[in-house]
Amino acid sequence: MSRRTVVVLGDQLSRTGGALADVGPEDASVRMVISRAKLAQRPWHRAKLHLVLSAMRRFADGLEAEGFQVDLRTADTFADGLTGTTDPVVMAPSSWDLRAHLDDLGVEQVPNDAFIVGEQGFAEWAEGRKSLGLEWFYREVRKDTGWLMTDEGEPAGGEWNYDSENRETPPRQGVDPPAPWRPTEDDVDTAVRSQVSAFENALDLELYGSMDQRLFPVTRDEALAALDDFVSNRLGGFGPLEDAVIAEQPILWHSLLSVPLNYGLLHPREVCEATDAAWRDGRRNLPLNSLEGFLRQICGWREYVWGIYWHRMPHWRSDNHLGQDGAVPDAFWTGETDMACVRGTIDDLLSRGWNHHIPRLMILGSYALMVGTDPQELTEWFHSMYVDAFDWVMVPNVIGMSQWADGGVMATKPYASSARYVNKMTTYCGDCAFDHTTRTEPDSCPFNSLYWDFLARHRDTLAENRRMSMILGNLDRFDDAERRAIADRAGQFRTD
Ligand code: FAD
Repeated sequence: MSRRTVVVLGDQLSRTGGALADVGPEDASVRMVISRAKLAQRPWHRAKLHLVLSAMRRFADGLEAEGFQVDLRTADTFADGLTGTTDPVVMAPSSWDLRAHLDDLGVEQVPNDAFIVGEQGFAEWAEGRKSLGLEWFYREVRKDTGWLMTDEGEPAGGEWNYDSENRETPPRQGVDPPAPWRPTEDDVDTAVRSQVSAFENALDLELYGSMDQRLFPVTRDEALAALDDFVSNRLGGFGPLEDAVIAEQPILWHSLLSVPLNYGLLHPREVCEATDAAWRDGRRNLPLNSLEGFLRQICGWREYVWGIYWHRMPHWRSDNHLGQDGAVPDAFWTGETDMACVRGTIDDLLSRGWNHHIPRLMILGSYALMVGTDPQELTEWFHSMYVDAFDWVMVPNVIGMSQWADGGVMATKPYASSARYVNKMTTYCGDCAFDHTTRTEPDSCPFNSLYWDFLARHRDTLAENRRMSMILGNLDRFDDAERRAIADRAGQFRTD
């Protein structure tokens, strides 16, 4: 009898998970597909193609070295790429659409085991709850797993949450974080860069950004080395400046682990166990606010986002509670703007396909929201430009958290802010062509007029939210002349 085919997707690169678990070369052959239709579907950041394609190639090489017969092929469509497979089986994909497509194609799907709680566990937790707040979910995970928990069942240090210690503003004297782990490049990197350029020419792809230097792990060994390096050298500093943005130090103490996690090279359980072990091994005396702050990202936010994606799909992706229909700002593709914060963030993004959480949320997300961007177009843009972007993680973060397009499932109020917040949490305003202290002057920072304009345009919808009443009261105190001046100034930046 011929062996069945295990299909491995580009974000499922785990030898021990899903349909590859407990399977050897004598049981199955492996099929991996690079779909030309997928490549041509939208613009891409070059670094994302470089990372995904080289991770797939290296994974295929590793399986071949183990004795598997592996067929990594390029085909017009994903379905075409499955031609000639025998009784194909795959781990359930991370996106709603691909699960539906594979159902149509009759491919067997085994449960996705790339998460700690998983969609089933989340659904059980969510059942019958009025509020799906992250904090309660996260505490349950801590209790169930024992991570950063004492033998008496108490959270380490007596508190569940150390966020108040993790909101420091950029220090005047600057910072000097330890350099993150870096890969040593090899011939595969060179070959994949040529492959990306060949696809660009053959398929007339619209590509952005640079793939000159690889910054992220693309093999299991590299992923483990990056995790070990982070825990040994940078985890202890993670917390305090977690929300700060320092132009000269875009990475700070962030882990850069979203790529190996989202590609399947690391399991989140391993990351949490390494964090817990660093606490139990008290010799290094790592600060609890950093340990807890980091653990919260992995077994809190990341698991929560996965669970709530499946809980609310498929309709969530098309939510547009505020009815916004503007374009993604041109500067998001090019970095060409006089706004130092948007320019700096996009320049960083073009160079590495990554920004940390706050530039994504409080610079780009907030700006896009206030200029009136269509949330679905913005989600597409994130998908194109970020090396760690996949449907399951963007829909909650973009539609839910950043654009409030679901009317408040993920975020209790819109993440819109004036330049005051940008000036407080970032180092950009000092060097900016715009004045962050004024609203309606010819050189006023766009964030200021846009903020009040956003509140005024959506006043009726936002008035239903009690957390907005104080700020809407301030808006109501502006006289007509001020309102007109705000609308005029904001109109110069709006894209709708
Ligand atoms: P760290 O700051 O070191 O955090 C550690 C890990 O926690 C991350 O690697 C990630 O796996 C996890 N994590 C933390 N917050 C979140 C979150 N909100 N959702 C999911 N995982 C989280 N993350 C992605 O992985 N892919 C995306 O496409 C993505 N898009 C985003 C879009 C917006 C608008 C926002 C506000 C956030 C987005 N995030 C996304 C979450 C977060 O910005 C990134 O996970 C993080 O910046 C990755 O860098 P890091 O690995 O250094 O993270």
